[in-house]
Amino acid sequence: MRLYSEVMSSLSKPASALVLFSGGQDSATCLAWALDRYERVETIGFHYGQRHSIEMEARLKVRAGLDQLEAWAGRLGEDYVIDLSGYGAIAESALTADRAIEMESSGLPSTFVPGRNLVFLTVASALAYRRGHDVMIGGMCETDFSGYPDCRRETIDATQQALSLGLDRTISIETPLMFLTKSETWSLAESLGGSSLVDLIVEESHTCYRGERGHRHDWGYGCGTCPACELRAKGWEAYKAGVPA
Ligand code: ZN
Repeated sequence: MRLYSEVMSSLSKPASALVLFSGGQDSATCLAWALDRYERVETIGFHYGQRHSIEMEARLKVRAGLDQLEAWAGRLGEDYVIDLSGYGAIAESALTADRAIEMESSGLPSTFVPGRNLVFLTVASALAYRRGHDVMIGGMCETDFSGYPDCRRETIDATQQALSLGLDRTISIETPLMFLTKSETWSLAESLGGSSLVDLIVEESHTCYRGERGHRHDWGYGCGTCPACELRAKGWEAYKAGVPA
């Protein structure tokens, strides 16, 4: 039997959400989180001149896998992929050009794409508006090693306010991973969908900056040495050891 407070909170929640979905571990976990909470969930992804298309393939595989999980059958709706390659040309970084992944004098890694989440959220809000979603969900996370400024909750709050004003409609941006470590993100996946979901994320989600899928580690595929692989591996080990960091 459900508690009265649970029933009330489910009644007051919007029925649908749009998830910013890249095919990585974080956004895959966010998508499962959304499916667990909303009756209708749609996804949006972006082409912005990434050096490899592996993550675009991973998106489709993760979506297909989630659609097979009985708990959320029928909730996963349309997927939209938006071409922002013009933006990628402006925002050239190690993710979109042939540059080494390293720390720069600004204190940010060369993988930082300036303003990426601001652009993504603005474009996503146009789709959300058209599709009748009042909620957008993203995997931004303050605890990432890199401290990308557009991943901080303060930036997301300001963006949420600007979009709501500019659209003259309240849009909320939910960031379920904002204060979680990578280990806690794995634990969240387990609590949402058990080992089937963890296995799906390990097997099909893609995080490696170099776009490598040649070698299968315990935590999934990747080069094993880029910052994204290192973070994912470290989180996995901590999760398996039962520690939060
Ligand atoms: Zn890698």
